[in-house]
This record gives sequence, C-alpha cells and structure tokens, in this order.
Amino acid sequence: MIDNEITIIGAGVIGLAIADKLSESGKNIVVLDKEPTFGQEISSRNSEVIHAGLYYPPNSLKAKTCIRGRELLYDLCQTHNIGHKKLGKLVVASNDAEIEKIEKIYENATQCGVKNLRLLKEKEISELEPAVCAKEAIFSPDSGIIDTHALMDFFFHKAKEKGVMFSFSTEVIGVKKQNNDYEITVKEPSGETFAFITPTVINSAGLYADKIAQMPGINIEDAAYKLHYCKGQYFRIAHPKKFSINHLVYPPATKIDLGIHLTLDLGGGLRLGPDAKYIPSIDYNINEADSAYFYESVQKFLPSLSQDDLIPDTAGIRPKLQKETEDFRDFVINEESDKGFGRFINLIGIESPGLTGCLAIAEIVEKLANT
Ligand SMILES: Cc1cc2nc3c(=O)[nH]c(=O)nc-3n(C[C@H](O)[C@H](O)[C@H](O)COP(=O)(O)OP(=O)(O)OC[C@H]3O[C@@H](n4cnc5c(N)ncnc54)[C@H](O)[C@@H]3O)c2cc1C
Repeated sequence: MIDNEITIIGAGVIGLAIADKLSESGKNIVVLDKEPTFGQEISSRNSEVIHAGLYYPPNSLKAKTCIRGRELLYDLCQTHNIGHKKLGKLVVASNDAEIEKIEKIYENATQCGVKNLRLLKEKEISELEPAVCAKEAIFSPDSGIIDTHALMDFFFHKAKEKGVMFSFSTEVIGVKKQNNDYEITVKEPSGETFAFITPTVINSAGLYADKIAQMPGINIEDAAYKLHYCKGQYFRIAHPKKFSINHLVYPPATKIDLGIHLTLDLGGGLRLGPDAKYIPSIDYNINEADSAYFYESVQKFLPSLSQDDLIPDTAGIRPKLQKETEDFRDFVINEESDKGFGRFINLIGIESPGLTGCLAIAEIVEKLANT
C-alpha cells in the first residue's frame, strides 16, 4: 500500500519551497523533519542576502538558479509582503591585486548574464557609502536582503493550506528500495519507529543530505556526494548607527567563500561574516578570539571600525561538496534513475546561493518529479 505519493525529507527553505511548488499537483505529499519545527538548521543561520549571481561559473546550476531565483524571490516578496529590501551591494577592492580580482568577478557576472552592474572609482564609492574606503568597486544594485523566517513561514502555511502534511520531530533513519517504491523508516522522540511506502523521495536534508542519499544504497564516494562541513561565524556591530552603512559591502570572494563581508538586516543591524573553516562535526560555538581576524579583514575597507565594536553573534555551517583543496563544485539536483534509484531526487551541497535560488531549485525539482 502506498501511504504518500511524494515524501520530502527536510523542512528547510529548500524542502519548504519544493513542498509549496508541488502542492499545486494535488498529490498526497508529506514533509518530514527531525526538528520540532521548520528551518532550524542552515536556513536559520545564514546572511539572508538575495544574491545577484556574480561569482558562479556561467551555466552552472548555482549561477542559473541564483539569477532566476532572485527574480522569482523579489516578485514573491512584493506580491505577498514578505520582508525584504533591494539595498544594492558593493564588492570593494582595497589594493591593485584586489582590483584585478573584482574585475574578473565583473567579467564573470557579465558572462552569466547579470545586468545593471557598474564599476565605480574611489570618489563614486565614497559618495555612495561615505564610511567605506576602497580604490575600486563593483556596484550591484539588484542584491538585497530578506527575512528568511518570514519566507519559510509563507511556504509552510501555503503548502499546508493546499493539503501538504508536515511531520516534525520525525527523523528518517532508513530508506529501502522496494520494487519501484521506497520504504521510509522514521524515529519519533519517544524512540518509537515506524515505516511507510512512497514512490517518490525528495532528499533536501541539508547537512545530512549525503547520509540520506546513502540509505537506499547510493555509493556516495563513487557519486562524489560526500559532504564536508565548513563553518561560518558572525560578529555583530554593537552600535550600527555609528557607521550609517546603507549597502552590503563585500571584499573579493576567495576560492571557498565570499570573504568576510558587512551585511545589514531588516532591523538596521550590521553584521560581519561569515568566515570559513572546515570542521569535522557540527559545532555552532563562536571563538571570541577570532574577532581580531574579523576586525582586520573589515577595517581595510571600513577604517572607522574598532575591534571593540564587535560582539559575537551566531554561526552557520555550509554543506560543501568541495573539499578544502578542491575547486568549484556545483549543486547536485539529480533524479537517480542512472544509479538504479528512479524517482529518488537528491539535493546535495545546497550551500549559498541556495536561499536566493530556492524558487528556481523548486522549479527544477518539479520537472524531475513529473518525468
Ligand atoms: C553561513 C552561511 C551563510 C549563507 N548565506 C546565504 C546568503 O546570504 N544567501 C543565500 O542565498 N544563501 C546563503 N546560504 C545558503 C543557504 O542558507 C542554504 O542554501 C539553505 O538554507 C539550505 O536550505 P536547506 O533546506 O537545504 O537546508 P536546511 O535549512 O538545513 O534544512 C534541512 C532540513 O533537513 C532536516 N533533516 C536533516 N536530516 C534529517 C533526517 N534524517 N530526518 C528528517 N529531517 C532531517 C533538518 O532538520 C533541516 O531542517 C548561507 C549558508 C551558510 C551556512
């Protein structure tokens, strides 16, 4: 007996966006999450930036979902009054080596089809953002910020109204292929386990997506699906009004992250971060001593900053397919028929810009689920 036509594992922003999209199909859908409510992991520990899509290789899924997702997200936020602000962003260069880097970013973004970018010189930068000091900058007017919780809340309630079932505090501990279907085994907080049958599985389990992919028998080493955790800490600026910053301000990106940047939130708060450090296991503690490194990184373009302005904030963990020594890895969004697991859809390595791209990612998954 089939209990649910579609089972979505994970109620972060990705699983929720997919649930909302698929709810239009009228199919019997369940979303499972091990936490007591939605969005308790990566989706509540990020920079909440709507990215323009400057950094990713042309035609990669990261580039395509970011650019399409950004447009869809602004439309959705406007239509449904979800908190957001198109602030614009500066990617600043403080020396000649960084000028070379941002010019490469500009070239890449143009190749990806990002519009409205401008290269600014020192004087234009200080007119736009007087507290910021840089020799050259990319100005990206379409970058912005979003209230991620409000977005997830919107997806959750809309999907629920359309009949999607949500089962929280329900950890998936086993997925077994049974003819053309899958048997999903879950564990409840009481320790009790039960199993049900489903023909379609969507694995949007964030930090644990590789472990879920392994459950029915996919070899995650051969498939190159193994995740590596990369922690990003944030420090908050105690008195943000002192700097009157109006745009997001980023240094040039590195191979593994976007550099320690300055982001605003919708309440007017200012944060620095995230940094990037590969770690062996989940750990959200903030190392207060790292404030020196944050200060040095940002003081280069915000000279009025003092180390005393920084207070420890939160940390998030990126689910990276890319090892520390490796080059770019794209999102995995794959229906696994070629590995013998038809109607098993994996979303693995959905790090940044996953929040920006969530609606475009949901469109891709909808097509995969319908083929
Ligand atoms: C530091 C940091 C900064 C970022 N900044 C940005 C940004 O500014 N802009 C942007 O676009 N993107 C950003 N991102 C990326 C973005 O946050 C992610 O792409 C997105 O939140 C991923 O959502 P998700 O639903 O895949 O994962 P999650 O939100 O982690 O959801 C996965 C869910 O699966 C559940 N789960 C896991 N295992 C099981 C199991 N066995 N059984 C049941 N449930 C399970 C978890 O409880 C969780 O709720 C950032 C990420 C990080 C880490």
